[in-house]
Amino acid sequence: MGQVQEANGRLEDLHRLRDGYLRNVSHEFRSPLTVIRGYAEFVRDQGVPADSSLPDVMGVMLDSCDQMIDMVDTLLEVSRIEQGETSRRLDVRPVALDEVVDTALASVRGLAEKKEARIDISFPKDPLRVTGDSSLLAHAFRHLLSNALKYGPARGTVFIRAEAREGQAVLEVEDQGIGISPEHLPRIFEKFYVADAGLDRRRGGAGVGLYLAREIVRLHRGSIEARSQPGHGSVFRVSLPEPEPAPASEAST
Ligand code: ADP
Repeated sequence: MGQVQEANGRLEDLHRLRDGYLRNVSHEFRSPLTVIRGYAEFVRDQGVPADSSLPDVMGVMLDSCDQMIDMVDTLLEVSRIEQGETSRRLDVRPVALDEVVDTALASVRGLAEKKEARIDISFPKDPLRVTGDSSLLAHAFRHLLSNALKYGPARGTVFIRAEAREGQAVLEVEDQGIGISPEHLPRIFEKFYVADAGLDRRRGGAGVGLYLAREIVRLHRGSIEARSQPGHGSVFRVSLPEPEPAPASEAST
């Protein structure tokens, strides 16, 4: 018994070490990346001959930097959430779901333009409210939207639908993309899980976006699920409890 306890204790120490290491490495990555990004922007914006390919090359460098910075930020957010899942003080208040979606949309606007994608939004007339931390929720939706764009076709449509259902605010993000095969579907919310681990993973990231989205939704006592028809697209559904007519102080527990 004592040996088992000791082994468990050591395992926990190892997990803590690993998480700390991940957080430190992420931090360390971020600084040089932002420096490279800054210089790439500087070079791109220098006056260069019109026939030079330099602006295009620098544009690609900038995009890659943004992608890496985004991945690092996601890893940092994951570690913050895992660290303080029980102790983190969420900035919980009633928030309008359409405003949270707007914030998330603003951060994927560039990606949508690049893909020439259309965003079709359908919200009920009466504003939907949830109780939560709007910035964290926007983070979660941002990952769903950026996946819908990443894995969706060029000039496709991403549908965002929301409705109130049995005391829940239900939000769906639907794309017309490559879809997810049944063997991968049950695992896509796992940390570091990537459905297509082939060499051509230009679209994919580190496999933490959906994990983070699920953790954030869980922190809000909600649920998230995905359904998909390979080759025809995917639908991600988030259900969050609508605010109860209870004193605001109860909401932060
Ligand atoms: P990644 O950063 O690799 O996109 P995620 O955690 O966001 O990681 O997603 C996990 C995996 O689920 C992805 O690697 C991808 O294969 C699959 N996936 C996620 N969203 C979609 C989508 N909308 N359409 C198709 N596949 C998806």
